[in-house]
Amino acid sequence: MGKRGHCKEHLRQFSDYIDGELAPDICAQLEAHLQECRDCQVVMNTLQKTIDLYQVAEGEETLPEGVRSRLFARLQIAQSTGKKPGE
Ligand SMILES: [Zn+2]
Repeated sequence: MGKRGHCKEHLRQFSDYIDGELAPDICAQLEAHLQECRDCQVVMNTLQKTIDLYQVAEGEETLPEGVRSRLFARLQIAQSTGKKPGE
């Protein structure tokens, strides 16, 4: 709340973040924002699901391990409100 102006900025960083190409300090800022911004959590969640679909289709890993686990840690925050992960 009160920092909504930052959302657009962060949204542009999501793909770089998932690709593991975001600078560590920007990464930390993005993660901090994700913890307090439900809107961005939803977007990240959707993005991750989309990427998972691509990975299934391509049959190969494209995400660096560290980014994956960090991402899933964030997603658990988003999902802790009721929905369980599919598998
Ligand atoms: Zn946001």
